Amino acid sequence: MKIFIFVVIIKHSMKLIVVTGGVISGLGKGITTSSIAKILQEKGLKVNIIKIDPYINYDAGTMNPYQHGEVFVLDDGTEVDLDLGNYERFLDIPLNGENNITTGKVYKTVIEKERKGEYLGKTVQIIPHITDEIKRRIYRVAKTSGADVVLIEVGGTVGDIESMPFLEALRQIGREVGEENRLFVHTTLVPVLDVVGEQKTKPTQHSVKELRSIGISPDIIVGRCSVPLTKETKEKISNFCDVPIDAVISAPDAKTSVYEVPIMLEEQNLSEYISKKLRIDGRRPDMRKWREFLERLENPEEEVTIGVVGKYVHLKDSYLSHKESFIHASAHLRTKVNIRWIDSEALENGTEGLQSLHGILIPGGFGARGTEGKIMAARFARENGIPFLGICLGFQMAVVEFARNVLGYDDANSTEFVPDTTHPVIDLLPEQRRVNELGGTMRLGSQKVILDENSRAYRLYGEKIIYERHRHRYEVNEEYIREIESHGMKFTGKDETGRKMEIFELEGHPFYMASQFHPEFKSRPLKPSRLHLGLVQAALEYKRSHR
Ligand code: GLN
Repeated sequence: MKIFIFVVIIKHSMKLIVVTGGVISGLGKGITTSSIAKILQEKGLKVNIIKIDPYINYDAGTMNPYQHGEVFVLDDGTEVDLDLGNYERFLDIPLNGENNITTGKVYKTVIEKERKGEYLGKTVQIIPHITDEIKRRIYRVAKTSGADVVLIEVGGTVGDIESMPFLEALRQIGREVGEENRLFVHTTLVPVLDVVGEQKTKPTQHSVKELRSIGISPDIIVGRCSVPLTKETKEKISNFCDVPIDAVISAPDAKTSVYEVPIMLEEQNLSEYISKKLRIDGRRPDMRKWREFLERLENPEEEVTIGVVGKYVHLKDSYLSHKESFIHASAHLRTKVNIRWIDSEALENGTEGLQSLHGILIPGGFGARGTEGKIMAARFARENGIPFLGICLGFQMAVVEFARNVLGYDDANSTEFVPDTTHPVIDLLPEQRRVNELGGTMRLGSQKVILDENSRAYRLYGEKIIYERHRHRYEVNEEYIREIESHGMKFTGKDETGRKMEIFELEGHPFYMASQFHPEFKSRPLKPSRLHLGLVQAALEYKRSHR
């Protein structure tokens, strides 16, 4: 009896906000969700977010950045959709694997239970077994996170076959927790069609109809549009979709960065509307710090151009966390960072394009294609005194370049690309030799890194022990460390055993460093990645001295 009452209380005190999308995908639903969460957080509430990805993949780890954008990594090592990166950046709270529910995870649990005989005698079906598992996962996060409000973003578009079981589960949850504890937010596209610039609401109407047909009525409609929604458009949506006009929110394209969106939403009193519906008291959101960050970002005093050399440059979202890290550094230093995206494969025909840069970043990656171009970029930066930052594969390629052109080992390489090279300066991590499955098996997540107190890395971090997120299978081969260091490339950050190289910096160069880990995953608007900050600062100094 006691247990039963406890469960009922938990369910009734939790407030849930479900965010769905209509018309098309890629509307910026993740930014809308993050922004709603942000204004509630600044109101003094504890918030948490779950992302539902209706694809069959267990996680995002095996997905190609070309198709899906960057794979983001959490502290616990879970590889997730890039939206979780947005949530962490907006809220500055660490999320974990439970914050990402995929069809793969749900089915795996249900099938495992079935094999153990837990449904013995029953036919296992989407309703109730799959939907119950979805509900269990959502309730668990709501409970264990201790959040006042949990937001749930449903990936994809309403009407997709894949998202049906999730929407059904959310409809049920909505009924279970009661009207004052749940809100459905529907984000849609409001296209502007003709030259007169008329805003079209028909797609929104259709999409809401679709949502209603599965039993969900939206409480709030967020209209994504290139420009602000006019009063008439808001009225029309309000009438046709049956939501109060205060609940039709305009979300025009941001001017400088996505960080404007919380302010944009709050100017339409969104937090007040949500609070009223969910019966939440408390103060108005205190957006002072956020506004100050925006003010710095939007009023730079200087600017620099940084080249990002990679093979996925044609889809900018592939390097989203780097792009954001530069925005964070930019606000911090009041320096606009213009990113020049450089295709590493194209560099193999000549490095002329690199001349005008004030800094170069080589991000992470997999596979041999484009690696020779990265090696050329690393060499160009080293020989011309251009500030350089290598991340993960960028770190490894800079070590290969150094081994080839400074140590004189012409065929030096990573065994990822040439397994039988005579100088394997980058080699498989010992614990990876036994691994045969691809998903979730790299060295992943937050790991301790110990910095040499007499280093630039230490000066940048201001701490001897740091924790950064990892995602790799290869590392610097121990056999070459002594020789590399004796030629001026010093490993100033190592793991706890002292055997895994985590950071290098080059002596006699204004700024030439790299990390095996990914500092971009922990960069936040008010706490920029130290290494990106270092690179932008060095780029600024480089620019000043080369005027
Ligand atoms: N492919 C390299 C490795 O597995 C680098 C990985 C990365 O850049 N994330 O070690």
